[in-house]
Parts: sequence; structure tokens; C-alpha cells
Amino acid sequence: MSQDIFEYKDDKDWYVGKLTDYTYISSFEDDEVFSQIQHQLYQILGGFENDGKLGEEKGLQIHVISYSSILKLMSFVVDMINQIFQKDLTVKKHQGAVLVLENDVIKSVHLPKEGIPLSALTGGGEDLGDTILIATRNEGKTNEFRDFFAKLGYGVQNLNDFPDLPEVEETGTTFEENARLKAETIAQLTGKIVLADDSGLKVDVLGGLPGVWSARFSGPDATDEKNNQKLLHELSVVFDQKDRSAQFHCTLVLAKPGKESLVVEADWPGFIAFDSHGEYGFGYDPLFIVESSGKRAAELTTEEKNTQSHRALALKKLMEVFPTW
Ligand code: IMP
Repeated sequence: MSQDIFEYKDDKDWYVGKLTDYTYISSFEDDEVFSQIQHQLYQILGGFENDGKLGEEKGLQIHVISYSSILKLMSFVVDMINQIFQKDLTVKKHQGAVLVLENDVIKSVHLPKEGIPLSALTGGGEDLGDTILIATRNEGKTNEFRDFFAKLGYGVQNLNDFPDLPEVEETGTTFEENARLKAETIAQLTGKIVLADDSGLKVDVLGGLPGVWSARFSGPDATDEKNNQKLLHELSVVFDQKDRSAQFHCTLVLAKPGKESLVVEADWPGFIAFDSHGEYGFGYDPLFIVESSGKRAAELTTEEKNTQSHRALALKKLMEVFPTW
């Protein structure tokens, strides 16, 4: 057993401590603050990998002879931990709470009896237990994203929760420009993490059109039916299906004020048919023959489409890179 004894003493505070095989704080004074600190020590020490060098000795026994300041006591304890376990923990006081940090990560929090307001920890910005704002008013789209982010511990809101926000015009000439415009503008206005998507159909023989103009391909009073008719008309002299190759495209941009945005994109390959078919979906789905199955996108139920579509593929990519963002 290590014989090192640690001590701190000034006019008002006097503590001694040593490494032992269990964690215990004793005192001549009876204060519930000591049992709280004991729990914090379990939390901090429990997070250390046992490197073998210390054997079973992974506890700290501390005796408090006189006490006036939680900050002094925590600084003493953290100093001991750093020396014994070769750590680099720091102690910081923030709005009455005493935080123990390791590389700017909070390892433990000591709260004053009266607690602290939520905004003291969050800076008044994001809610604790973050929510992500999806830049859409479409509840169907929001639900697709809700399932995905729930798995990562995030809640989801959409623009219907922010009725006063202005519409962001999609004035870009690429999917990425449009998705960035929406995500970054709304992130600036709300201070939140915002996810925006931009999607559309790219037809190879038309040089990628309708592309970012997919929603309004047939003009200012466009409808899905008019857009489909216009597309069939544009392709009326392309007789071979293999020359009618196309992709549904999706770009997703995740933005947060003061942080470089995260961008992912995916294509769903297929061909444009000669007529409409299928009863599900929306937009160009009745004309889109999925390359892998030969089925129309409009023949797939929402659940089937959500396992393979351009949005599903882009979301899968986002899931891979989001945790490191
Ligand atoms: P937005 O990205 O939701 O604005 O979609 C733009 C347009 O692309 C839509 O209005 C549709 O015309 C087309 N589009 C995007 N995704 C799909 C899809 O999954 N099926 C059919 N059309 C789509």
C-alpha cells in the first residue's frame, strides 16, 4: 500500500488524504457536502481504466479537519488524483457549480444546495439534451429524421415549431448551395443545430436537369403532374430506356453557428419510363424505374422506399460521420 500522505492547510481549511483500497471522506464536522463529494469521487475514479500498477488500490481516503470552501476541497482532491493516477484533471467554478474537467470534458459536477439555472450550463443557447431543428415544414420528412436522430439521443423539431422564421429562398444553382443556404441561415437565426436537405432528379441526357429546379420544372405554377408531363415531353425523342438513365439526388447539410457545416450526399440510380405507373410516393416517383429492382419508385410503400432512397442513403452516410462532427 502506498504510504504517500497528502495535506492541505491554511487558516480555515485543513485536509489530509491517502491512496487506499476504498473511497471514504471523514470529518469532525457533519456536513452532507462530504457524502456528495464521496459520490463524485466514485464517479471520477470509477471511470479510470485500472492499469495494473495500482493493484486493488483505487480509492481515496480523505479526512477533513476543518472546512470552509468546496472549491479548495475539490482542488485538493483533484490534485491528489492527478499525482497518484497521472491524470490532468482541472477544477473550475461556473455560476456556483464546481466542475471537474478532463480535456474540457465535464467528468463531475457539484451543485450548490439551491441548484443552478439550466441556462448557466447551456449558455442560454441549446436545450440540454440537444434538439436538432429540421429545416422543413413537412411532417413526413421530419418523422424520417426523427427516427434516425432518436437512435443518437437527439430530439427533433421542425419549422412549424418556429412560425415567425422567414422563408429562406432556394436561390442556389447546386443542391449543396441550397441546402447550405437553408441550414446556415436558420442556424444563425435560431442558434440551433439545423439540418437541411435539398433533393431532386438528375437526368443524364438532359445534362442533369431538372436538378435543383425539380420542384418548379414546368414553371411557376408547377404541379407534380405538370412536371412529369414536361419531363416525358423533353425525353420524347429518346427511345431507348438505357439512354434515359437518371438519379434521384439528396444533399444533407448540418449547420451550427461557429462550426464548419457537415455535408453528405447520395444518388439513387434508375431510368425514366415512358409512362406513369404506381400509386405511392410523390413528385417524379411514377416515372422513376429503380435500377436495382426494375420497379417504379411509386410502386414502393413508404417503408420500402425509406430503406433504399437517395434520402435513406444520405442519412446512412450522415449516421457514419455525425458522431465525429
Ligand atoms: P425538395 O428537396 O424536397 O425541395 O424536393 C425537390 C423536388 O425534387 C420535389 O418537389 C420533387 O419534384 C423532387 N423529388 C425529390 N425527392 C423525390 C422523391 O423521393 N421522389 C420524387 N420526387 C422527388
